[in-house]
Order: sequence, then C-alpha cells, then structure tokens
Amino acid sequence: ANIGVLNFMNIDSSHMTPAIWLKLSRKVNDIIKRPDIAGVVVTYGTDTMAEGAYFLELTIDSEKPVVFTVAMEDASAPCPDGPGNILNAVMQASSKEARGWGVTVTLNSCINGAWEVRKPQTTNVQTFKSGEKGYLGYVYDGKVKRFNDRVHKMKLPLPSKLPTVVFFSTYAGDNGDFIRYAVDKGAKGLVIDALGAGNVNAETYEAILYALSKEVPVVISTRVYYGSVEPAYGDKGGGGMLEKKGAILAGDLMGTKARLLLMLALAEVGNNPEKLKEYFR
Ligand code: ASP
Repeated sequence: ANIGVLNFMNIDSSHMTPAIWLKLSRKVNDIIKRPDIAGVVVTYGTDTMAEGAYFLELTIDSEKPVVFTVAMEDASAPCPDGPGNILNAVMQASSKEARGWGVTVTLNSCINGAWEVRKPQTTNVQTFKSGEKGYLGYVYDGKVKRFNDRVHKMKLPLPSKLPTVVFFSTYAGDNGDFIRYAVDKGAKGLVIDALGAGNVNAETYEAILYALSKEVPVVISTRVYYGSVEPAYGDKGGGGMLEKKGAILAGDLMGTKARLLLMLALAEVGNNPEKLKEYFR
C-alpha cells in the first residue's frame, strides 16, 4: 500500500472535545472521498477512543474502512504494542475484506465495531471489547478474517457546532442536584446513566421531571455494561415511568455515546421530542 501520513493533532485523548471531533470528522470525510484512497487509519489515545470512533461512525458515510487504533504500552516498554497495532490497522484499511463495516477500533488483532466497543480495562493491551455482541473479526498475518457482519447504518450530517449535552451517572443516594444545576446552567440535553435496566431513585426522578418541564430532553442509558434499557419498572423512577413522562430510552447504546447521538440529533432536528426519539430506536 502507498501510505500518506497527516499529523492532525497530538493530544492526550482525555483532552478531546466535541469541537475537535467535528474537525476530525470533516478531515476524514474529505480524505475518504478521494478515489485514490482505500481507507483511513486514525491513531488516537485509548481514553476517549470508543466515543471518538462512534462520533465518526455517525458522521462518515463510506464503504471504505476507517480504522481507529492505539498503543496501550509506550515505545519504551518491553513489549510495545503500537507498531503491531498500526501495521494491522493499515492492512485492514487497505483490505477489500474490511469494507462496509463503518468505523472500527482495532487493536491486539481484534476488530470492534464503533457502536459496541468499550474500554473495560485500564492497563491491559487487550482492553477494547465488544461485549456479548462479539468482535467483527481479527487481523492475522496481514489478512482480515471476517466473521461478523453487524453494521449500523445511522448517519447524521455534520453541524457547524454542537449543543451542550451533559452526561451523569446516577448512584444510590443521588439527590438529583447535579441534574437541576445542569438545567439551570443552560444544558440543551441530558444523558443519565441509570441503574439496571434504566431505573433511578425518587429524587433523581423528580430532577428528571424538572428537566423535562424546562423542555430539556433527557436520555436514559444504563451503568450496566451489556443489555438494553427497558420500560420495565412502573414506579417513580422506573424505566417505564421515565419513558411515560417523556424521557428517551437509549436501548443498548452506552451513555457517553448516547450523549454524542443526542448532540448530533439536536443539531439536526432541534428540540423535537418525537423526532429525537426516532434516533434511539
Ligand atoms: N491518556 C492516554 C490517552 O487516551 C492513554 C492512552 O492512550 O492509552 O490519550
């Protein structure tokens, strides 16, 4: 393969911002449209890579592979993983076998889809995982082995700027104050990582009602790694009651990614509860 290198930015990914994701997506969109380009590799930091990959997945519409990769071990470690990961990512990006998967996160030979991927381990080289849905495939000896065709086709246009959407994780004893604070400070949307299949306590429930009364859309995701938010419980704070009152259930999309989807959806359709809900089906 002929490889071109572009130094877009050098930051620790814990300093990533939505404004940079917009720029990155624009850049990759421009590059991937070129007929002489087979695919794109994005080297990133591990801390926010799952979200970065998902943002590009939502905003890049191409059959060509866009492969995010990283290093968990730095270059001075006894077994640095960066060079092998970059080689695998380049092999994947230039492979016909990898077309149509959208944006992936590839490291330690394993290929994850941008929707499912998470970083569930802080230090291990095998940190990025797709949970119960599984890897899309892997790279071995320069070749892509494809064993899963799960793809998501949702695409949203890139806006010029993104609204402020705040993400919180709830907990036992939460009094809802942070939710009220975010609303009073002008947040345009909230995503709450709820308990279990989408439940919060009565005080948090009241705070969510406060947000909804101020016409701030609220999306309910879950702190639990795998499985969906469901309208199962009908008491004050139960997922069923939250939905009845106008909150949007995020399905099995993780909270920090639901935040990105809500930002892009708000930029596209505005604060229209029925239309916003469509994106989370
Ligand atoms: N803090 C680093 C980052 O996410 C960690 C890493 O890359 O592993 O940029």
